[in-house]
Amino acid sequence: MIYKPKTIAILGAGLVGSLLSILLARRGYKVAVYERGADMRTENIGGGKSINLALSNRGWLPLTRAGVIDTLEDMIIPMKGRMMHDVSGELTFHHYGKEEQAINAISRGGLNSVLMDKAEEEGVEIHFRHQCFDIDLFQNKVRLKHEKGVKSIDADIIIGADGAFSTVRAAIQKTDRFNYSQYYIPHGYKELRIPPDVSGDFLLDKNALHIWPRRSFMLIALPNKDVSFTVTLFLPFHGEVSFENIRSDNDISNLFDEYFPDVLTLLGKSLYDDWVTNPTSSLVTVKCYPWVRNKTMLIGDAAHAIVPFYGQGMNCGFEDCRVFNDILDECDDNWNIALEKYQTQRKPDADAIADLALQNFVEMRDLVGDEAFLVRKQIEDRLYDLYPDKWIPQYSMVTFNEQMRYSEAFEKGKKQKAIMDKIMERKDIFRNWELLDFEDIVNQLR
Ligand SMILES: Cc1cc2nc3c(=O)[nH]c(=O)nc-3n(C[C@H](O)[C@H](O)[C@H](O)COP(=O)(O)OP(=O)(O)OC[C@H]3O[C@@H](n4cnc5c(N)ncnc54)[C@H](O)[C@@H]3O)c2cc1C
Repeated sequence: MIYKPKTIAILGAGLVGSLLSILLARRGYKVAVYERGADMRTENIGGGKSINLALSNRGWLPLTRAGVIDTLEDMIIPMKGRMMHDVSGELTFHHYGKEEQAINAISRGGLNSVLMDKAEEEGVEIHFRHQCFDIDLFQNKVRLKHEKGVKSIDADIIIGADGAFSTVRAAIQKTDRFNYSQYYIPHGYKELRIPPDVSGDFLLDKNALHIWPRRSFMLIALPNKDVSFTVTLFLPFHGEVSFENIRSDNDISNLFDEYFPDVLTLLGKSLYDDWVTNPTSSLVTVKCYPWVRNKTMLIGDAAHAIVPFYGQGMNCGFEDCRVFNDILDECDDNWNIALEKYQTQRKPDADAIADLALQNFVEMRDLVGDEAFLVRKQIEDRLYDLYPDKWIPQYSMVTFNEQMRYSEAFEKGKKQKAIMDKIMERKDIFRNWELLDFEDIVNQLR
């Protein structure tokens, strides 16, 4: 039976809910979005998860489909690779992919605002300060708290784009045979800021993502259009070097003095205020299934929250929107087919990127600083240069190849890693890696 809804309610006007509303409105649906918070375009809502984000190919493609790329072009700063900072201040740069490839730093609030503007232009109604607190999954009703009290709305389709702690998901969780897991890593994060220098220039190279890997913890910095850098410290909550042991300005100075001396001077005096003002936040992976119950579905972080170490959470949520839109094309907007196809097709990809993101934390904080890692990257870069269709480094498959599914990138990456692990065990590999038989290596993929 063909089912085509007349009205769609999206809960959450975050990055994913806003993008999805545009794509659905463009297909001719009447879409209303209900957002718990105030309108960030007119009110300073503060807080939030990260001031800026890395936008890459998987996110770029659906944004193109939504018709917002022209506006976004001026808002991005391309980051062509990682700039590693060792304790002595020594820098090592490593390209993320081919020389012309880059990931893009963008302001979260700026991007979200562009998406909301576009959604309204396409006829989407956004209702701010409307917090969903309950869903009747079988009567298709949403219950909302707002300034004047409580109201209930009906919609043919309800979409939960309400983030990692989704209320829509919580309603589905009360139904039979819903699987759910959440896992907090031992680390939290705190955001700090490197201001511009006295002449108004960037204090670090703006076309790189800066990393200070320190084994069990790390610091990263991404550039902003206002010529500052947002710095994020990832540190365990407990243990010797941990958030619980930093209780005074002195402790903060000691931490930076010992592990990040080159950053201490750049952070300037606001470091101590920022430390107190900015929250220490936790990082969670959420997996669940099914994502669809009757006529209600989950998307973005509501369906799959992941840790930020592959820079893919938003990109993955945007890709959800693109995939769902493509499925609607394929099945002539028959939502009975589309909803089922979306969740079965997409779930393995969400699981793959969730696992990759956890793995990449180890790589970022632990490995990017060590010589074996750098030699391994050089070998993989050479393989990629010589056999660009056969050996694509996993980071490139995930970040730059929007045609390849995350699950495929995950499987191929695993095979490549097994081969590389063996190669790295060879004696003299550090000195003689250029003498490797690269053709033989690539043939091992068969
Ligand atoms: C530190 C950090 C850095 C990150 N960096 C990157 C990066 O570089 N690249 C990347 O791709 N991803 C990154 N991410 C991940 C990215 O932030 C998320 O994947 C993305 O925000 C998910 O978008 P969303 O719209 O699904 O959820 P959210 O952004 O959480 O939006 C959910 C919206 O729903 C609203 N809401 C919540 N509950 C209700 C309710 N009951 N009723 C109504 N509205 C509700 C919220 O107010 C919010 O506006 C990062 C995450 C963190 C924590």
